[in-house]
Amino acid sequence: MKINLISDTVTKPTPEMLNAMFTSEVGDDVFKHDPTVNELEAKVAAMFGMEAALFFPSGTMANQTAIKLHTQPGEQLICDKYAHIFNYEGGGVSFNSGVSCRLVDGDRGMMTAEQVEEAINPPDFYHSPLTTLVCIENTANKGGGACWDFKELEKIKAVCEKHGLKYHLDGARLWNALVAKGESPKQYGALFNTISVCLSKGLGCPVGSVLVGSKKDIDRAIRVRKMFGGGMRQAGYLSGAAIYALDNHIERLHEDHRKAKEIGVVLDGLSFVKSVEPIETNIIIFAIDEKLITQEQFLAKLKENNVEIIGMGQGKLRIVTHLDYTDNMHNRFISILKSL
Ligand SMILES: *Cc1c(COP(=O)(O)O)cnc(C)c1O
Repeated sequence: MKINLISDTVTKPTPEMLNAMFTSEVGDDVFKHDPTVNELEAKVAAMFGMEAALFFPSGTMANQTAIKLHTQPGEQLICDKYAHIFNYEGGGVSFNSGVSCRLVDGDRGMMTAEQVEEAINPPDFYHSPLTTLVCIENTANKGGGACWDFKELEKIKAVCEKHGLKYHLDGARLWNALVAKGESPKQYGALFNTISVCLSKGLGCPVGSVLVGSKKDIDRAIRVRKMFGGGMRQAGYLSGAAIYALDNHIERLHEDHRKAKEIGVVLDGLSFVKSVEPIETNIIIFAIDEKLITQEQFLAKLKENNVEIIGMGQGKLRIVTHLDYTDNMHNRFISILKSL
């Protein structure tokens, strides 16, 4: 039995999801003629109580499109130093939008409203870039799947309104936060200009993300997506998977979270584990004492047991639970860890 815990993107479609894909009605989505894509977009927009939505081949393209919509070249956005848009989108913020990132030194990927306000450049000081956008990430990936306090998001919204800034949410793992905190998509739809959500992570789809926003923003987003090469044809096969996942794979995220917490407890009890970061959702970040076992030795030991996880550098490692991580695998992994 191979146990792959490097990411929640390693899942394969379930037989039921494959069936939903096979039986999807399709058309050419570049002409907006794909009924299943149209259905998905209407469904996600309604979930968030927002006017419109657009299907994307990746979360990166959805985020990059949002940044393009909300900024002009030379301007600056504010985000946490751990933000995916800054660290893991290939420098797309500067390449696609000609925008710089003002990084905030937050806690596990999360900033305070005070920090955001301090990071805004004075608009009448023409020497510094004009601040026009604030980007949030929930859950915070590099922060160990950390969930924001919704009250802080509301305070940041007030800062955005006071200073005329746009507000974007990178919600690649927002589903995990909603389930963990008992929140609703509509709460988020009421707060942000745009939200990107991922279908190929916790929800287990093979491909896809959706951007939600106002009708005006989404109309413009169609052109940006085309420019980025993201106009797709019979994408209904992928949207069929997404509709199935939205109906069947959200509530079960609790199980991924429970398993992650159980792994955390076991890790905490191992002599060579220095620290385990707080576990709120499906991501576990922990540090090992490299005087006792090096990262390479630890990863090799797991590999001998057919378990794969990834190192994040500086003695930190990451485990991510997901839809394809079964109860059997969980029991086996726990006993492997205890035997080390
Ligand atoms: C995975 C991820 C993305 C991008 O998703 P891709 O589909 O891989 O492009 C964006 N933001 C966060 C926080 C992510 O974890």
